Amino acid sequence: MDKKYYPTIGLEIHAELKTESKMFCSCKNDPDEREPNKNICPVCMAHPGSLPVVNKKAVEHVVRVGLAVDGNIADFTEFDRKNYFYPDIPKGYQISQYKYPIVSGGRLDGFDITRVHLEEDTANNKHDRGNFSLIDFNRAGVPLMELVTEPNTFESADDAAKTASSFAKELQLLLWYLGVSEANMEKGEMRVEANISVSPEKGKLGTKVEVKNLNSFKSAERAVKFELDRMIKLWEEGKQEEIVQETRGWDEAKQKTFSQRKKESSHDYRYFPDPDIPKFKLHELFDLEKMKKELPELPAQKRDRYRKDFGIKDEDIESYVNDPELGKWFEEVAEILKDKNKIKTASNYITSDFAGLKKADSGVKMPAAENFAELAEMASSGEISSRGAKDILAIIVKKDDSPKKIAEEKGLLQKNDPEELKKIAQKIIEANPKIADDYKGGKQNALQFLIGQVMKETKGSANPAAAKQLLESLLK
Ligand code: ZN
Ligand code: MN
Repeated sequence: MDKKYYPTIGLEIHAELKTESKMFCSCKNDPDEREPNKNICPVCMAHPGSLPVVNKKAVEHVVRVGLAVDGNIADFTEFDRKNYFYPDIPKGYQISQYKYPIVSGGRLDGFDITRVHLEEDTANNKHDRGNFSLIDFNRAGVPLMELVTEPNTFESADDAAKTASSFAKELQLLLWYLGVSEANMEKGEMRVEANISVSPEKGKLGTKVEVKNLNSFKSAERAVKFELDRMIKLWEEGKQEEIVQETRGWDEAKQKTFSQRKKESSHDYRYFPDPDIPKFKLHELFDLEKMKKELPELPAQKRDRYRKDFGIKDEDIESYVNDPELGKWFEEVAEILKDKNKIKTASNYITSDFAGLKKADSGVKMPAAENFAELAEMASSGEISSRGAKDILAIIVKKDDSPKKIAEEKGLLQKNDPEELKKIAQKIIEANPKIADDYKGGKQNALQFLIGQVMKETKGSANPAAAKQLLESLLK
């Protein structure tokens, strides 16, 4: 019962690339087109005699992904025909890459990458209309990137499931940063498949099952977990022969995987080089060194820089990496503040208070960096209380203005002028002689009451610590 099982998973992720036109024709690549079969032509409909022309931008996108994950960019590359019959594939084959993918090797988020290749997407089948099916070819021929990872072995099913979903998230982030794909999983622009196996022996792989239809990070995590638990249970019951090599789908409603078909192996596809498409050398087509230099700052690099430069919390860093616009604003604020403690205060206000306001109200906007920095400055120095800072923040996210000005207008500046505060403290002592005597007689609680009275008198604008100190010295 307590025997340990080692789950191994490898991922295959497809992402539709963002280009003007499709992969092999000049039809518009428009994922938002609602009218079925609008963006089609003889090439993507596979009319006899039509010829494919490679979309250079799509190749460039995959090359940039390869450079970003430190993969090897192939010198020689070619396209192959992957033959199979299904109504969503008008040619009877999908143009893909087999022996010579654009990218091999590389690493991302704890996974070694096997390859990244380029292919074309299939049409959309619609089976929900009754006892017939409809096909929309708008998606047929859209450039599709496929990234395959090496199998990774984990210590637990939970660990494996979490890592699978976090890898997909990291890849999505990378594709966004590179601007090569929207990778919206709900819209099917990014699709995750997991190759899953379980073994009682580390280093030895069990029978592999492929789980498909994972169209959210949550379903990726749950499907991997479900499938691993299913396999481990079969092992525990001595029924491991029932684990067969197959493709399983994920039923979102039932939260279960189910058998779809017994897996075909690659030789069933009769891959062969597409004779209609010229082979090419990527080093001749692209200036790879220049492309590498021109890559934007990537998520992992941004994390490192934020950690080093600002010393803020990891959760804060993640908020900025996931929302680069917010990150850019934070950087502007940090640039003004310079001091690390003030920057930390500012970051706390951004990721908790500002984020909270924004979540509750879509009309909330980032105030100018100067104004936000001023607010953080005042909160750090004690010029305003943290309550006051929150009140001012709620104002400037709607109507941007100087926090200093607002604090003066609303009387939120803490009264730290020692002379003025002293007068007030004296007044409070005189008005409460009995309590002052109690304190002198050793009753510590009496002091709290007097501090409270000072706060009340100053309408909360006094610095409580300063008030305490003053009262103590006056009552000595
Ligand atoms: Zn077309
Ligand atoms: Mn594929």
